[in-house]
Amino acid sequence: MGIKLKFLGGAQEVGKQGILAQGPDVNLLLDYGSIVSSTEPKFPEHVRPSDVNAVILSHAHLDHSGALPYLYVSGGPEVFMTPPTLDLSRLLLRDFLHISGEHLPYEALDIESMTRKTELIEYGESITRNKFELCVRDAGHIPGSMITSLQLDSKKISFTGDLNIGETRLVRGADTSDKEADVVIMEGTYSDKDHPPRSEMEEELVSSCREIVESGGVALVPAFSVGRSHEIVSVLRGRGFNHQVYLDGMAREAAEIIMSHPSYLRDGHEFEKAMGSVTWVNGWRERKQAVSSPGVVVSPAGMLRGGAAAFYIERLAFSKKNGVFVVSYQAENTPGRMMLETGELYFKGQKRKVEAKIHKFDFSSHAGKSELEGYIKSFKGSPSFCLIHGEANSLTRFAADMTQSTGLKVHAPSIGETLEF
Ligand SMILES: [Zn+2]
Ligand SMILES: [Zn+2]
Repeated sequence: MGIKLKFLGGAQEVGKQGILAQGPDVNLLLDYGSIVSSTEPKFPEHVRPSDVNAVILSHAHLDHSGALPYLYVSGGPEVFMTPPTLDLSRLLLRDFLHISGEHLPYEALDIESMTRKTELIEYGESITRNKFELCVRDAGHIPGSMITSLQLDSKKISFTGDLNIGETRLVRGADTSDKEADVVIMEGTYSDKDHPPRSEMEEELVSSCREIVESGGVALVPAFSVGRSHEIVSVLRGRGFNHQVYLDGMAREAAEIIMSHPSYLRDGHEFEKAMGSVTWVNGWRERKQAVSSPGVVVSPAGMLRGGAAAFYIERLAFSKKNGVFVVSYQAENTPGRMMLETGELYFKGQKRKVEAKIHKFDFSSHAGKSELEGYIKSFKGSPSFCLIHGEANSLTRFAADMTQSTGLKVHAPSIGETLEF
């Protein structure tokens, strides 16, 4: 008897991640996320909640957690996650309900049931159950993100969730000290490119913001409310940017949560200082204020799909003295991607050219191509690898290249595929 891995979503795509790991008489779910949209959220393939014995949640982002409460509509399995992941996912899930409630198959009550079934686990800790055993380490992606080593039947699975090898302003890099596995399920968001050196990016962003602000403009930095917003503020303040910085959206609640888990940060004190130095935007009046004088506005949504960033872009897009600085991954079919590729955006249903300076800065919190390659090669023996969380073309090409250059079995499974080990 071996184990089976069924890829329910988030394979050959970024979004709605879910993997069913099956051993003899046991079914474990690794993440259960959704593609976020106010009108048409999407979910991984269906699983019967009563068939799932336990869930592992790698980190709070909704592409990993967004479908999870559905399992708790009646009862539901125990779910393992770190303390910051619990607090941050509750925040994100409640907001998701607030925005897309009528399209979601669960209610606020189910988030509470999920919380009651949560088994908290800290980095370095192990938990043993009858049919499986797990130990988690820092994945370096956002506060609380974890790599899980899972013993299931006779196989050891390593599941990276979203992975960042190098350290950032916010968090330490991944703890990749566990080099033993039979199967590695790993993300490959950037399996087609390396990131430029972080310090170069930091310098470029800070000087671009300075340029805009000192010539009387406003720089909008659309960024996810958990992780990236905080990273950007930390970069600006860490490099002595002394002008006005506004932070909008849920980034504030997220910052409070992150501050309450300082051991998950690279430097809790530094973080607190940076967060204390910005102006928090509350409501429309302050939003209007934020766009009426020079400064930097950091606001969700990171891909310009809704959120307060949609308000800001309407106010800022049509003046050359302003800037729109993209700092996050832009998925296919998002306004952010369209703006980067064409310089245009839809405003009230009409396509218009964005006059503000558009620039993309690479502040990824995902490992780049060479780091993924190094990670694969660092394992002892010859485990099999499953690459997920990336665009189909880059994942399949990278898997084929790695198979050829290392002789290891590297797969890029598609949605609905089941692999046996
Ligand atoms: Zn993530
Ligand atoms: Zn993700």
